Parts: sequence; C-alpha cells; structure tokens
Amino acid sequence: MKIQKIDHLGIAVSSIDSGKKFWQDIMGLELEGTETVEEQKVTTAFMPVGESEVELLESTSPDGPIAKYIEKRGAGLQHVAFRVENIDEALAELKEKGVQLIDQTARKGAGGARIAFLHPKATGGILVELCERTN
Ligand code: ZN
Repeated sequence: MKIQKIDHLGIAVSSIDSGKKFWQDIMGLELEGTETVEEQKVTTAFMPVGESEVELLESTSPDGPIAKYIEKRGAGLQHVAFRVENIDEALAELKEKGVQLIDQTARKGAGGARIAFLHPKATGGILVELCERTN
C-alpha cells in the first residue's frame, strides 16, 4: 500500500460552533464547509491546514458513534486519516496481513471520499482511517 499523506485529523466536538471558537477564532484556520453524513450520524466541518485538514465531527444524534465516543472518552482527537492511492488494494493487503478492520470494504465519507477504518486493537490504540480521493 502507498500512503500519500496525512489526509486529516478527526476531532470529536460537542458542537461545531464550540470547536470553531478554538480552531477558527484562536488558531486562525478557515472553515471550508460543513457536510452531514447521514449514515454516520455526523456533521463534519473541514478546515484546511497546508496539505492536510482538521475535520471537526459533531454527532447529529445521541446514539451516533461520535456521541458515544464523547460519552466514553470525552471530546478530542478521535481518528487519524491517511490518504492512500487505492483503498481497495490497501484493504486487501491489510486483510492478507491479518489486520483487524472495522470496515471490510470502503464506504462513502464526507467530501466524496472512499473511507475505511482499522480497528484500534490492531494499531496500538489509534483509530486509523484510510481515505481515497479522486479529486
Ligand atoms: Zn475522517
């Protein structure tokens, strides 16, 4: 597999408005836009940082994965996303190597990306996302 760069840092926030107070007003990042991914019960806000982005994640529902994450571990860094050239090949390679995956196949993420998560048990405790973008 060929990892091209860190695509984004996924940060769980209680609300995008509260996250913006730090990342936009204090750190000076620009909000590029927000998008709701219904299947994941999440609204995302992307803030470019050089070649990468900060992705704020706000749950749209109390039973969404981000709400559950915040309930268990508090707000903060939730996942690290690596851009790969070909996510299908990357997943096939990881399966071959016996790596525990949350997503067996790629699914739709924000911004038209194809994404898949690796299980934190397989990565030393970090929720790792692979992400393929055509644009
Ligand atoms: Zn992400």
